[in-house]
Amino acid sequence: MYGLLKKRRLYKAVPLFYTLLFLSFIFSLVFVSCGRKNEPSQTRVVLGTVCTVQLFEKGKPKYYDALFNRLSEIEAHMSVNIPSSDIARINTAAGIEPVEVHRDTFEVVKAALEFAALTGGAFNPAGGALVQLWNIGSDAPHLPSREEIDRVLPLCDWKDLVLTEGEKPAVFLKQKGCALDLGAIAKGYAADELARMIHSFGIKGAIVDLGGNIYAVGEKTGGNAWKVGIKNPFDSAGSPVLAAALKDCSVVTSGVYERFFERDGRRYHHLLDFTDGKPADNGLMSVTIIHRSSMSADALATAVFIMGKERGTEFLRSQNISALCIDRDREISATPDLEAALVLLDQDFNLVF
Ligand code: ADP
Ligand code: MG
Repeated sequence: MYGLLKKRRLYKAVPLFYTLLFLSFIFSLVFVSCGRKNEPSQTRVVLGTVCTVQLFEKGKPKYYDALFNRLSEIEAHMSVNIPSSDIARINTAAGIEPVEVHRDTFEVVKAALEFAALTGGAFNPAGGALVQLWNIGSDAPHLPSREEIDRVLPLCDWKDLVLTEGEKPAVFLKQKGCALDLGAIAKGYAADELARMIHSFGIKGAIVDLGGNIYAVGEKTGGNAWKVGIKNPFDSAGSPVLAAALKDCSVVTSGVYERFFERDGRRYHHLLDFTDGKPADNGLMSVTIIHRSSMSADALATAVFIMGKERGTEFLRSQNISALCIDRDREISATPDLEAALVLLDQDFNLVF
């Protein structure tokens, strides 16, 4: 009797052993496909900022090289600081002649002009003269006088920007001294380009971070949403105040903490209101836009920041755009469509929809 029982247990144990063996084999397969063997992320300084890309699963060094090469190409075409760039050449030829540009420069300038019109000039790509006057973000920022600002403001009219479409696309600034600055849109265009390339490589999930211009490409392994943290604008190095659960979407923030200088206890940040020529001072600390197009998110984050909470909220509603604004009183007002995607992480803030 006892022997029979023992035998039966043994009979039961054998299939159990093989089942466990089989399961562990399946587990090892699952873990490999979960991205255990990810290539580490890569970080390089391009477009005047720190750019990090993390490819999951099928990430290979050759893909990283292709992505960063594309970033360098966009920088070579659109940086104001590179004398041979399309933008530098357009600025030098301002008031003189149109300049033939690369397709991607033309695409960004065209979109920039559309955003300027859409936002009534809150987004102003032709404000290079004022940006240079303040020189915020450089080693030598300048606090200009009212006279200095008034002298430069007439040179910042986006309606002076003229585009010629066709075989040889060209850009012309009608006024001498007028200058393009794509600082508030080029990174968005670049993030869209990388997301498009990553999809074309067949990679299902990746995170692109171009100096805070985030593209959460595809989805996490297993089909889950990415969790993107939104910075605390009072302490950008601290913990995020919110997490947004998203798939295949860009998250772009414009905030007072990104680039600024302080003089006599006052902070002067880099988001300029072209109605008075000064950093916008309207109670907002940051604006985050969530959009499939990172270029739209980038331009509109800057524009809505300039518009301020009331006008910005109205604009967002009319355009059906997902966004959240954080103000000086630590109130986070988000568009109602984001209710299911947002989780408040910092209870010092008040989240309203
Ligand atoms: P960041 O580049 O720091 O992420 P933004 O996308 O908001 O922030 O771009 C800000 C940059 O855009 C400024 O540094 C300046 O070069 C330019 N800029 C400033 N004010 C405006 C504006 N009202 N419209 C368009 N560009 C602007
Ligand atoms: Mg922007």
